[in-house]
Amino acid sequence: MKTVILSYPIENNSPHYIGTTEPSLEPLTQIKNGDDYNTYEITVGNHSGTHIDAPKHFIDTDKSIADYSPEELRFKNPIVLDCPKKPYELIEINDIHDANLDKCECLLFKTGFGIYRETDLQKYLTKSPGIAVETVAWIRKKHPEIRCLGIDTISMSRYQDAENAKQTHITGFETNPNYGEPLLFIEDMNLGIDTKIKLKEVMVVPWQIKGIDSAPCTVMGFVNQNTIKKSYVNLL
Ligand SMILES: [Zn+2]
Repeated sequence: MKTVILSYPIENNSPHYIGTTEPSLEPLTQIKNGDDYNTYEITVGNHSGTHIDAPKHFIDTDKSIADYSPEELRFKNPIVLDCPKKPYELIEINDIHDANLDKCECLLFKTGFGIYRETDLQKYLTKSPGIAVETVAWIRKKHPEIRCLGIDTISMSRYQDAENAKQTHITGFETNPNYGEPLLFIEDMNLGIDTKIKLKEVMVVPWQIKGIDSAPCTVMGFVNQNTIKKSYVNLL
């Protein structure tokens, strides 16, 4: 089994939603300065870099991210879906209608916008596409086995559309008898992986901090070694 990392490490100035604290790693004691050991102070907003949103993000009485067991953060038959989007565009039902989502527990949208994280950070932060509210509702109704959505943009909702942000998240998180269990959202994902590569499972490991709505996380994808065609190896 091969492991592919689908998240970014936290570093100084990691992308963060505008208006939240800029991540910083400040050296405290440093061997190069004559100290006996190296230590750092880390300042990070909980929605900085690759992170996972739990329902408490928009529904105060609902589950925080530390309430999830490791088993609840493992997802079988994940799909990375090619879904190219321009600035501010929304992922519509039509974009996923024909995808084979059979037994899929985690749907990851590769909008292609992730390339701007390196090449044009301002564009990445302020012009991001997102998912339409109707699409989230459709997924929850038609595919109740899906428990997690992920995206290669700074937020699941498009930038500068507060109403879309609120409704998108609430539609994903609310308890509703017509839907499967409330979703989790992974944002700012590293989805450079070729979508021809079939993942067997995705596992999310959030920082274990009690009580907060959401947390930075590491996302691992597992690929069956013998299902990787030779030509795909250097795409991993
Ligand atoms: Zn978030």
